[in-house]
Amino acid sequence: MPAPVAGTFDYLPPAGAAGACRPGQRVRVPFGRGTRIGVIVGLKATSDLPADRLKHAAALLDAEPLLPADVLAMLLWAQRYYHHPVGDVVATALPAALRSGASPDATEEIWLPTAAGVAAALPGSEAAAALARSPGQRRVLSAIAAAPGGFAGSELGNLPGDARRLAAQLEERGFVTRGERQTAALPAAADVDPETPPALNADQATAVAAIQAGKGFSTFLLDGVTGSGKTEVYLQAIAPLVAAGRQCLVLVPEISLTPQLVARFRRRFPAGVVEFHSGLTDTERLRAWSAARRGEARLVIGTRSAIFVPLVAPGLIVVDEEHDASYKQQEGFRYSARDLAVWRARELGVPLVLGSATPSLESIENAKAGRYQPLALPARAGSAGAPSVALIDLRRHPPTDGLSEPLRAAIARHLAAGGQALLYLNRRGFAPTLLCPDCGAVVGCERCDARMVLHQRAGRLACHHCGAERPVPATCAECHGELVPVGLGTERIEAALQRAFPDEAIVRIDRDTVRRRGEIGRQLERVRAGQARLLMGTQMLTKGHDFPGVTLVGIIDADQGLFGTDFRSSERLAQSFIQVAGRAGRADRPGEVLLQTLFPDHPLLRLLVGEGYAAFARAALEERQAAGWPPFASLALLRAEAVGEADVFRFLDAARALAGAAAGADVRILGPAPAAMARRSGRHRGQLVLQAATRQPLQRLLARLRPQLDALPDHRRVRWSIDVDPVELF
Ligand code: ADP
Ligand code: ZN
Repeated sequence: MPAPVAGTFDYLPPAGAAGACRPGQRVRVPFGRGTRIGVIVGLKATSDLPADRLKHAAALLDAEPLLPADVLAMLLWAQRYYHHPVGDVVATALPAALRSGASPDATEEIWLPTAAGVAAALPGSEAAAALARSPGQRRVLSAIAAAPGGFAGSELGNLPGDARRLAAQLEERGFVTRGERQTAALPAAADVDPETPPALNADQATAVAAIQAGKGFSTFLLDGVTGSGKTEVYLQAIAPLVAAGRQCLVLVPEISLTPQLVARFRRRFPAGVVEFHSGLTDTERLRAWSAARRGEARLVIGTRSAIFVPLVAPGLIVVDEEHDASYKQQEGFRYSARDLAVWRARELGVPLVLGSATPSLESIENAKAGRYQPLALPARAGSAGAPSVALIDLRRHPPTDGLSEPLRAAIARHLAAGGQALLYLNRRGFAPTLLCPDCGAVVGCERCDARMVLHQRAGRLACHHCGAERPVPATCAECHGELVPVGLGTERIEAALQRAFPDEAIVRIDRDTVRRRGEIGRQLERVRAGQARLLMGTQMLTKGHDFPGVTLVGIIDADQGLFGTDFRSSERLAQSFIQVAGRAGRADRPGEVLLQTLFPDHPLLRLLVGEGYAAFARAALEERQAAGWPPFASLALLRAEAVGEADVFRFLDAARALAGAAAGADVRILGPAPAAMARRSGRHRGQLVLQAATRQPLQRLLARLRPQLDALPDHRRVRWSIDVDPVELF
């Protein structure tokens, strides 16, 4: 598992286990020449296979279903809706350890200090002298002694040196001993004082009351400006449920970027909070998953894939920042966790809260049509007022290295007043282009239709699409002219800021500076503690962080994305503006937001700055309706890529012919056309767009098309996938 197969397979029950088989349990089955682990998705009395070809499953691995009925039903629904192979869909819902047959209640090796070990771990103690000559052993011993409830053997590999050998030596000397514990045991409750919740303001109280008044399933769209207290609404809607023994699931876009949010939930609910996301080790994931399945975890906070976590006593589901594109998986099984949350909440009969300062146009339309219940938090919680927003016309104030004089002066003013400034540019590196002014050549990636980005500090060129890197060439390969960096990246702005404010410490947050786990938390802590007063970075900064000291937000390049070709580009642009602007002046200080632009008269900017997100959303929905884009239409993409360009288009032409024959007049087929980046990682890419006014005809067509595509003679020469409700068109 997962086998890349579209269908399910029939087996007879394992010998002697006929009565014990239920959907959701795992079985070991003969498959091809070996065996595989599978999940029972259904039981039936007859099979299309002749009786003599039906094999027995070899073993039933679970006494109880691993996947509860609602999760299994959701997976089977999602497999049909997204037209993705069922094996891969089910595999997505299971932690890796379970896919390879481990028991959800497996035990793991742990290391514990003995009494002698505890004594020896105390620095400066007499007993510690015994380890004076072996610093390696001392290091391992203090790690083991510091872990509450035992140090997991699987974590020894994370310590420096050969920690396993050192631990064995400590064991021989009687300082530590080995034990076992249930892998799934919940981590010990954090030792913190539970926080006393603030009294809700009137809007918050209305929202919490509405969520709690609902009997059974209902979807709420909590539309609240940044800092309006949405998180407080989630916390207080959740509290009585958790107190009554129910479980709540909170989805967030990128948990590793928002340690503060998790910390806030832990302070409010000191016991029973588990995290679930891709930053965990396999063991940690299994532990969290099992704790949820057994009901020990009261609150599961996780990213996209947490939508599949089993719950025994579900009470409420929250999707925070519901507009965020990261809820849609962009490869393989291309599900939307937000949309699955609606399905699952309905199936479970529990309320669902979708929260955002910038709701997706889909959700706004759903609320307008009465499918979602709107809840509004129009003002910031506490006494903070809304920030003032203004444009800086770059034609009148030409910038040097990205900073215009009015922006520089504003930064100086805010720093002088004791504030902090946040500068936003969603492009990492020093400059996105290396250009030869003599002949006009730019340095491109050899494997992609993309330019190499200059990373000056690392002294490398990097392709942000395929990861290729190479040294910076001394001169132009065409004419030997001198190459100049063109355009702006975060590294360049950081350098410009440092020149303009030589005495200030600067924290830069992008994927180049916070590669390591925990690093972002440390950097942001420097800002919160006031050790650094200038903060700059990419999109990463817009994800729910709270910077009480930031009074100025500067958007370096408001034109980035202004002329995007995707029908969603203006929505994305508006969302990131509003999200980043919302970082200004929380607490009790007034905030100021400045946007640098070459197009101060652009209607989108004028609308956003003049009237705000709601006005933008109204206008954008009208445009979508006129043009027949979602949410007023249903879309699917057939993407294909291969090394040979001809293979891609032969496949897509054949697909188009099949789709044309199967589609009624109610589905439009556009393409095949090359993708916006026609070549990436050495592969050519193309796509077909399928569009219909409503879901049903599109779904009917895809259901007929998928098996026909699987049967196309060329289908193995290309990598292809179906993307239902794509978030990126090109
Ligand atoms: P959001 O999730 O909408 O950004 P938060 O829930 O994080 O908003 O609230 C923003 C700030 O206001 C936080 O510091 C929070 O502690 C505070 N806050 C929220 N609600 C209240 C309230 N009712 N009274 C006082 N402070 C509040
Ligand atoms: Zn590349």
